[in-house]
Amino acid sequence: MIITTEYITCEYTRTSKLGNTHSYFRKKTIIILRCDSCSLIFNREKGLMAPARMSNQVYHVCSNCNVKQFAQSKGVERRLIWKMPVSSLKTLDHL
Ligand SMILES: [Zn+2]
Repeated sequence: MIITTEYITCEYTRTSKLGNTHSYFRKKTIIILRCDSCSLIFNREKGLMAPARMSNQVYHVCSNCNVKQFAQSKGVERRLIWKMPVSSLKTLDHL
């Protein structure tokens, strides 16, 4: 789940053709996320994320959790809903 967006400024140095070193700054956009598996708050650079994943329509999992295991557990939840009989007493709030 995307919580907020922050900006950090990073300083880099480069060497010119005359041998002088120059420092320059670049602003990075950092996305603050909450893991949908363990609720840990972590961050990720916006430039490293796929643009299609920049919404809360998809799940976000931190590097400590097993992504494939999490995806399989979500598939099991969906399958349980699909196999639920029509006469079930569960309402949409409990899904
Ligand atoms: Zn996690």
